This record gives sequence, structure tokens and C-alpha cells, in this order.
Amino acid sequence: MSHVSRLKSLVKKNERSELEKPRTPFISFSTKISIIVLMQTQTSFWEYDRYFSGVDVVVIGSGIVGLTTALTLKEHAPQLNIVVTERGALPSGASTKNAGFACFGSVSELLDDLLQSSEAEVFSLVEKRYRGLLRLRERLGDAAIQYESLGGYELFDAEDDYQKCAAQLVPFNALLATYAGLKNVYRVADDQLAGFGFRGVKHLIHNGAEGQIDTGRMMDALIARVRSAGVQILNGLDIIRLHSESNMQVLETNQGHVIRACRVVICTNGFARQFLSEEDVNPARAQVLITEPIADLAVRGTFHYDRGYYYFRNVGNRILLGGGRNLDFSGEQTSEHAVTDLIQEKLNALLWEVILPKREVAVAMRWSGTMGVGGVKRPIVKQVRAGVYAAVRMGGMGVALGSLTGEEAAEMVLEGL
Ligand SMILES: Cc1cc2nc3c(=O)[nH]c(=O)nc-3n(C[C@H](O)[C@H](O)[C@H](O)COP(=O)(O)OP(=O)(O)OC[C@H]3O[C@@H](n4cnc5c(N)ncnc54)[C@H](O)[C@@H]3O)c2cc1C
Repeated sequence: MSHVSRLKSLVKKNERSELEKPRTPFISFSTKISIIVLMQTQTSFWEYDRYFSGVDVVVIGSGIVGLTTALTLKEHAPQLNIVVTERGALPSGASTKNAGFACFGSVSELLDDLLQSSEAEVFSLVEKRYRGLLRLRERLGDAAIQYESLGGYELFDAEDDYQKCAAQLVPFNALLATYAGLKNVYRVADDQLAGFGFRGVKHLIHNGAEGQIDTGRMMDALIARVRSAGVQILNGLDIIRLHSESNMQVLETNQGHVIRACRVVICTNGFARQFLSEEDVNPARAQVLITEPIADLAVRGTFHYDRGYYYFRNVGNRILLGGGRNLDFSGEQTSEHAVTDLIQEKLNALLWEVILPKREVAVAMRWSGTMGVGGVKRPIVKQVRAGVYAAVRMGGMGVALGSLTGEEAAEMVLEGL
């Protein structure tokens, strides 16, 4: 029986007794390639036996999507030997670098989206984001991810923009009730303006269903969950080549290892062009800053400004602020992590002139992360070729989309076994 059909029968029948047998490496230890690999990389037999042999599924990328894909596969088919490979010492794209908004769309952003896509497309994506957030909270627990339902706000300094959005509150609330079962999500919140103390902001729209998480704790909890389910996460392994040989997928790492697996799931989001040059997915850098702690900070919640191009929130008594990609779209279409003067100066100006105009506030840290974007906002979840799947293009709301996208990818792999 081939390895693939053995897998299939194990998944279908869940033959635990066979699984309890000691693991035999899928690649025979005596084959040429194994010996060459072991010699070149100075990999020990133990390392080889434990981490690089008998692999059923390799997930490339340990962001929220890769980890959720691996976890879902393991939950549904515990007998599978699943390895997640991650090039960084930590996840190194967006999942540990984001702003931690648990959001699904501000009014102006949804209005913008409706210029490109149908109402059904826009609001079914909103529904997917909302359900994805519920799934993440349910899976890891609100305490572990420090979920806080402080609500979200959109700021308006131009009367015209505000009037266009205010006119949509009733229809958008009705659509959110239909698609996501949410009631009265958006409302005008001008009465809260004075309390926040922003300068030059004329109107506020409140989103009662938006929240925020601690990104670091969320990823830490997810990694712990994946490891405790029995999935190996191998950090520092950059997959530099992927090709098929007979029925198997062969992955080569930057350190000279060769891993053979039945299935591969590419979850590299903003870096996906490396393996998916035909797909509409590009890197998009996003830059942020965080302030030092601020005494008596009145700003609490998540805030969107200028059609979502800028966003800020409180992190305890600090402000985290990001955005400004619209100042240099082509320059920010890069997977290089760096901050630029152009964008950071704009963020400084927003911080000091609009958000906290009467305070002297120092910036503690600045950083960037890589998102995966394309012409449309929907994720790509598909089989790329026999044995190879992809779950990429999370855009700017992968915290929300990541859970269900990972689950969808895992289901696709399982269905194909
Ligand atoms: C600054 C910033 C703020 C954001 N704020 C929010 C927010 O508030 N709310 C929200 O919902 N979303 C936000 N996002 C978007 C969200 O973080 C992403 O959509 C989401 O994290 C994507 O998850 P992912 O698993 O698809 O990709 P990633 O987290 O990028 O994971 C991909 C992984 O693949 C690894 N990798 C790539 N190539 C290889 C290779 N060849 N071999 C091995 N490993 C490889 C990378 O190192 C990376 O760890 C933000 C993003 C950024 C950058």
C-alpha cells in the first residue's frame, strides 16, 4: 500500500493501533539522498528520525494561518505527522507584528470596498471576519488572548466624508444583521469626542462589536496549543525550493535539509510569490509605532482614520499607531522589514497633533510587518497542484480571517486524502 493510500485509510478508519507502532521513517535510511543530506547538514540520526522523516504534511509558515491549518489537521486526523516550518526564530511576517484589532470593517472602508465588489461579496467577507474572530476567541479563550470588547471608532475630519458614511448606518446595520446576526453595530458617537480630546476631529462613528487582543499572547497561546496537539514547529528553517517527485513533495531548506512529505500547505501570505508566482498576491509592508506609557490616557478602544489607512488603539496606557501605506504604495510593496522617514513622520504628526495634541509623549518602539494583498480582499485558499495547497492573502485583517482560512485549508487537504 502506498504512503498516500495508507494515510487515507488511517484518516478514514482512525486506526489507532497502527499509529501506536514505533514510527518508521518514510524515506528509507539507506537511500542515497538521506545519506547525502545527513552528511551535508551534520544532522544526527536522532534528529533525522524525529523531525525530518515520515512526514505526512508540511505547513510552510507559522503565522496564524499556518498554525491554524496544522492544528485543524491534527484535530481531525491525529495520526498525521505534521511539521510546520518557519524561517524566523519567531513567526516573521504579520502575525506577531500586527496591531491586534479584532475588527471586521469600518463604514468608510466598507463603502470603498463596495466600489470594487458586490454587496454580497463585501458582506459575506465581513461575516467571515466576524465568525473568524469568534472562532479564535472560542479556541484560545478571551483570557489567554486578552480580548477586550472596548468597541471601535471611526474618526472624521471632513464633513463630506462623514455625511456619506452617516447615510449608510441604517442600511449597513441591516446588512450586518442579515449576514452576521449582529444588531445595531454602528452608531454616531459625537458625544464621546470631547472625552477623547482629539484635535480637528468633527465626528465619530462607533462600532459596538469591535474589540482588541494582545497579539503576542494570542500567538503564544496558539503556538502552545499546536505544540501540545503534537505538531512539530521547526523554527529557523527557510524553505528555499519545493518540487514534486513521483507522488511526494520535496522541500529543501536553507540549511541543506531535504524533507519529503505527502502534502504541503503554503501559508506564507506576503511572501507567497516565492512559490505562487501566478497568483495575485503581493507583499505590503505596514509600519507602526508604540508610545511610552501615558498617565491618565483617555483613549480606549480601537480607532480608524482616513478610510482605514491609519489606525490606533490603546495598549494598556500606551498608544499603538500605524498606517500610511497610501503615502508610498509602490515603495511599501516590499517584504523587507524597515521603517521609513516619510511614513514615520506622518505617524508622529498624527500622534502629536491629532490624537494627543496636548501631551508630550515619547515613542518607545517602531517596527514593520509584511501583509499579503491583492486586487481583491478575499483570501486565496486552493489546491495549487497535486499534493500542494495554498492559504494566503489575508490583507489587513488576518487576525479576523486567519482562523477560518486555516480551517478551510485543512479541510481541503483532508478531503483530498
Ligand atoms: C503592522 C501590521 C498591523 C496589522 N494589524 C492588524 C490588525 O489590527 N488586525 C488584523 O486583523 N490584522 C492585522 N494585520 C494583518 C494580519 O496580521 C495578517 O493578515 C495575518 O497575521 C496574516 O497571517 P498569516 O499566517 O497569513 O501570515 P504571516 O503571519 O505573515 O505568516 C507567514 C509566515 O511564513 C513565514 N515564511 C515565509 N516564507 C517562508 C519560507 N520560505 N520558509 C519558511 N517560512 C516562511 C514567515 O516568516 C511568516 O512567519 C496587520 C499586519 C501588520 C503587518
